[in-house]
Amino acid sequence: MAELVKDVVCGMEIDPETAAGKSEYQGTTYYFCAEGCKQEFDANPAKFVGGGVAPTGEAPVEAPVAAATEENVKLNVDRLKQDKPIVSEAFAAKKIDIVGGIYDLATGKIGLL
Ligand SMILES: [Zn+2]
Repeated sequence: MAELVKDVVCGMEIDPETAAGKSEYQGTTYYFCAEGCKQEFDANPAKFVGGGVAPTGEAPVEAPVAAATEENVKLNVDRLKQDKPIVSEAFAAKKIDIVGGIYDLATGKIGLL
């Protein structure tokens, strides 16, 4: 018996060999129980893998941590903007911009806030 995989759209356990559809996203192959699930995934893969809230509610741990991290960076950026007069004046005059960055371990990308 083949190992079952989860259809990330509806949460159903399916056999990859008999799956109605499959899609590759960020180097991973995802299988779907029906063409409709595949189309929904293709339209917005990020909604179903990483970043978003898991539709099954099985892995909601990362979202609050990411939100807290983002909030922390925003607070630090705000503090920097008002820190030294030379910085806050330059910022007010739009000579400089102050941004925060979050390094995403999963994608290796830095997201600017
Ligand atoms: Zn499905």
